[in-house]
Amino acid sequence: MLLSSNLGYPRIGPNRELKWLLESFWKKKINQTSLFENISNIKKNNWIKQRKAGINFIPSNDFSLYDHVLDMCLTVDAVPDRFKKLKNKKNILELYFAMARGYQKGRIDIKAMEMTKWFDTNYHYIVPEFKPNQKFKLAFSKIIDEFLEAKNFGIKTRPVILGPLSFLFLGKSTSNKFNRFNLLTKLIPVYREIFKLLKKFGAEWIQVDEPILALDIENNIKKKFISTYKNLSKDSPKILLTSYFSSTYPNYSLLKKINVDGIHIDLVNTESKDLNKIIQNFPKNKFFSAGLINGRNIWKNNLSKSIDILKKIKRKISSDKLIVSSSCSLLHSPVDLNKEESLNNNIKDWLSFADQKLTEIVFLQRYFNSNLLQNSKFLMNNNISVKKRKTSKLIHDNFVKKRIKSISSKMLRRKNNYFLRKMLQSELNLPLFPTTTIGSFPQTSEVRKYRLKFKRKEINLKKYENFLKKETKKTIKFQESIGIDVVVHGEFERNDMVEYFGEQLKGFIFTKFGWVQSYGSRCVKPPIIFGDISRTKPMTIFWSKYAQSLTKKIVKGMLTGPVTILQWSFVRDDQPREYTCKQIALALLDEVLDLEKNGLKIIQIDEPALREGLPLRKNEWNSYLKWAIDSFKIASSSVKDETQIHTHMCYCEFDDILDSIEKLDADVISIETSRSNMELLDSFKNYKYPNSIGPGVYDIHSPRVPTFSEIKILLKKAQKYLNKEKIWVNPDCGLKTRGWPEVKKALKSMTLVAKSLR
Ligand code: GLN
Ligand code: ZN
Repeated sequence: MLLSSNLGYPRIGPNRELKWLLESFWKKKINQTSLFENISNIKKNNWIKQRKAGINFIPSNDFSLYDHVLDMCLTVDAVPDRFKKLKNKKNILELYFAMARGYQKGRIDIKAMEMTKWFDTNYHYIVPEFKPNQKFKLAFSKIIDEFLEAKNFGIKTRPVILGPLSFLFLGKSTSNKFNRFNLLTKLIPVYREIFKLLKKFGAEWIQVDEPILALDIENNIKKKFISTYKNLSKDSPKILLTSYFSSTYPNYSLLKKINVDGIHIDLVNTESKDLNKIIQNFPKNKFFSAGLINGRNIWKNNLSKSIDILKKIKRKISSDKLIVSSSCSLLHSPVDLNKEESLNNNIKDWLSFADQKLTEIVFLQRYFNSNLLQNSKFLMNNNISVKKRKTSKLIHDNFVKKRIKSISSKMLRRKNNYFLRKMLQSELNLPLFPTTTIGSFPQTSEVRKYRLKFKRKEINLKKYENFLKKETKKTIKFQESIGIDVVVHGEFERNDMVEYFGEQLKGFIFTKFGWVQSYGSRCVKPPIIFGDISRTKPMTIFWSKYAQSLTKKIVKGMLTGPVTILQWSFVRDDQPREYTCKQIALALLDEVLDLEKNGLKIIQIDEPALREGLPLRKNEWNSYLKWAIDSFKIASSSVKDETQIHTHMCYCEFDDILDSIEKLDADVISIETSRSNMELLDSFKNYKYPNSIGPGVYDIHSPRVPTFSEIKILLKKAQKYLNKEKIWVNPDCGLKTRGWPEVKKALKSMTLVAKSLR
């Protein structure tokens, strides 16, 4: 008999209950008891839902109040020293949220722990901090409590824990003089204690996640897997070792040797020829967890195809050791498609959210366990949906497909090189150290209120537009008044830099409730790219032209780049990402040329997500970078040499992609540097970046207003690295999260510094 399993269920609740509860708790509108009661309900409902669906291995401890890596820090007592005061107070919840969000009360001011992206997803985890004399002990019993909590409801779960090697790997060391993997010997006893307790309380299995197995890990870490798990498995429930997000094959020879009871294989990312090799010599005594149902997207599974894969696996693996599973935790997919009542029904028919994915898992299991299901209606309907999607006119647009084929090498480069262009662009008449901003200005509560009213049809288009015009005008006049050289319209008409474009492009659709967790209480609702993409009408011309009509200064047209639009959406799985990205690029090209035609002399195409799109395995980097850069160039290269192309990137390490940034051949790039004190420019110096750069001169992520002299010091520093002819002066990123008073002061200082340097 095949078994069924799920590696993790969304934590946010069907109506984002987690968000509302946390926010009320932080605002002191509810107390701790009420928070815990309500949280317990979310967990209970999740478990019951999974049991009803028929899942055999239901996870616990997959839930978290904020983040599962943070949970682990507390579990093993890896609490950074700066939180000591709070630790002594013995209010674990206060400590927990302080670590996540920082703590400011009276004279105590403690910085939060850092947050970073969980592999190549849009989920952010709290980065553990380890010091050389780090000690560990079992300090927080959440994993055990949750197991017992579920047991109380009559559900025996398979608790999930982040494995010790991934936990150490994903953290950072407080000093670079020590190797945090040396802490392993101290950490393992705590894990053993947990495993022992779980076993004592009746857990039969434990799911140990070691997602770093999805990366190219060094040999010395690989070796540690063998000894660690030999140790861990001694007095423990059965261990299912999981990794996900990339092919299981490259580390398979290692996996096979690790002393565990089951291995999870991500079949969404493992190619069929590699799967063949895996099942050829899969250890007879181990369970095989077949991660067939994609936990990261929103598409219905092609069940017939999955059945074929399972048939193949069954030829080599005995049925009682075979588990049908999600490929990874369902944390990364929205909760329930059934809530989407106003979605186009044709498209809805192709989708599957977490709850629907559970049904798919169990269907596949039962297909093999009972003959009754072999001709079932469910399978028939699934076949029909899959077929319809393959041929639907909603998706397939021959015009777009032809256009992709016609992309020529000429479309991938500017007419002349940067030096010639720079000469031609001198007609822009910009001073030394030209000043500009990244695009958005404060999205005040008034702006958001008007947008909501318009959306709810409480005000008409005319009224809404008049309001936006007023805001735009105010912003242009302000920039003129302080002498910003290249001005922007302020992006008041945009809710979000991806959604704004997605809503206007063919091939995109938006859900009402398709939320996924981004971090803590924050959720995002990514657009769904379901079909071939094209632009049906101009998207930004109206506002850019309006802004330009108000001023003699140069207005910069603002677009979101193809890679970023791709990266922050749910992407179709029926064609390579590359094609989808190039389709977006062509649509943006139309917009770029329209902006140029309408008199905009500078156009910025933001690509903040270029770096985060890098694949997990290095051998795939080059092919990704090639099409990502090509996509940017498709969108940006067909303009006249006189038109200046800007791009903007933020929140990332640029070091490993500097040559790719050069290849974008944007005339000007603005980047985030102020938090690292311009250290980043080191790499630009060594690299001899040829085009112009605007290193952000102040951090927009905090309300703090930078002083004149701070900005001046940074720009002086920048001149050590870069020829002054190449330097632009701008903030770190868009100003939309800031308030007007601080923006005014900061930009004033910024322009004054630029003037003083001229
Ligand atoms: N132009 C966008 C803005 O100013 C860029 C945002 C970003 O880089 N994330 O808001
Ligand atoms: Zn930015």
